[in-house]
Amino acid sequence: MDLGINGKIALVTAASRGLGRGCAERLAAEQCRVAICSRDAAAAEQAAKEIAAATGAEVVGFGADMSRTGDISGLLEQVRQSLGDPDILVTNAGGPPPGTYASTELDLYEKAFQLTLMSAVRLIHGTTPAMIEKRWGRIIAITSISVKQPIGNLLLSNMARAGLTGFLKTLSTELAASGITVNALLPGTHRTSRIDQLVQDRSAREGKSPDDVYQEMMAEIPSRAIGDPADFGAAAAFLAGKQARYITGQSLLVDGGRYSGLL
Ligand code: NAD
Repeated sequence: MDLGINGKIALVTAASRGLGRGCAERLAAEQCRVAICSRDAAAAEQAAKEIAAATGAEVVGFGADMSRTGDISGLLEQVRQSLGDPDILVTNAGGPPPGTYASTELDLYEKAFQLTLMSAVRLIHGTTPAMIEKRWGRIIAITSISVKQPIGNLLLSNMARAGLTGFLKTLSTELAASGITVNALLPGTHRTSRIDQLVQDRSAREGKSPDDVYQEMMAEIPSRAIGDPADFGAAAAFLAGKQARYITGQSLLVDGGRYSGLL
């Protein structure tokens, strides 16, 4: 299927590896011109080179920390100068630290709010004026299955992503008439370094081997499989495509059936 996004400019943040990279790879495979970032400029540049070599697309990488306001505005300026104004924005950042109410210090709430919620708001603020002018845009926020089914020991993630979901839904109604769709993409369990870290954390807390923790996680997923970043990237590319123009304000799960609710 031709998604009709050949030549569109896409910005995917936090994308040197994991789910962000899966999205960048798929958008590059569709011949978008892609900008990515991560905190480590060298890692982002290296990932950009690899994606460009694999797809033949133009891909550029920059260093930017999504928890820092100045880095976000600096990134947007660099992207504008190198590729132009993004038509497609995929917002992503590393997940906030795990913890329960009892273990979470007060100052961590503000940090999670900046990293997980405000980074997306700032990126969207910086990119929507040009999308409105072009009367075309795709905003896709990577959130989590936790917005439908909060996850134990991930208090900060559960809290900040729920707030972001409220923002996105409201925004979708305000931008729809300008040809801009706004959706969230909700990972379930995908094999990335974030999941490896959470498995390590749970294995230490519960005194189980990481392999046993993985088996338990897999048993909770009806497809009996852990997803990978490519599964996720394919869904992001579809939402970015011309066929998805009438899909907005949605939270789409990519989870192998793990979410057990009806809606
Ligand atoms: P990952 O650790 O594999 O990759 C994270 C990427 O973000 C890396 O490229 C890293 O360099 C970059 N990064 C981290 N912090 C950053 C920051 N402050 N600024 C800029 N770049 C930063 O993680 P992942 O599994 O791809 O997860 C991506 C997001 O999705 C996270 O917020 C995570 O909590 C969430 N999530 C992941 C899963 C999953 O199954 N993997 C499930 C639910 C939610």
